[in-house]
Amino acid sequence: MLQEEAMLIPGTHTLKIGVSVIILAVAAFMWFWSNSDREYDAETAEALRGVIYRLRCNSCDHAFEMPAEDYLDDVGAEGVRCPKCGQYKAWRTGSASEVDPAQFREEMALLASIQEVSDAALTVQSEIDRVQDQISATEAAGNDASKLEELREELARLKARSTAIYARWEELARG
Ligand SMILES: [Zn+2]
Repeated sequence: MLQEEAMLIPGTHTLKIGVSVIILAVAAFMWFWSNSDREYDAETAEALRGVIYRLRCNSCDHAFEMPAEDYLDDVGAEGVRCPKCGQYKAWRTGSASEVDPAQFREEMALLASIQEVSDAALTVQSEIDRVQDQISATEAAGNDASKLEELREELARLKARSTAIYARWEELARG
């Protein structure tokens, strides 16, 4: 009976197989994208660890600082909560480090693929680790304030560069 039906309506099975293939392809595509998003979020959080943002409240003009991770967790359409007036009117004005990630714009434009951006992110992270180790050692020695200051400036620059790299990553990932 089934065979007869299939013979009477040629193409039905082909159509069913075709629909199944499309459903599988869509499912695989969605799985891939949700997974790569999670990976990206984890890497972004890692890159922003220790980065401090400077913020200003549009309502009372209060200036304050907040860890980048907290800012990204809390920020909504109206900004984040101002600790002085309590209104959700505070926005990021820059990194407390004074290094603006925008200064790396030309360099970032040269990173043309996800692979290049990924390599750059790994390199900058190893540099950040190296400078952080040097800072710890210098702090422990406790007698070289100018070297410490220099290392902290270098670290701030590297972190801003890292922020720029992850912004570029996002740009490329979104096409
Ligand atoms: Zn305020």
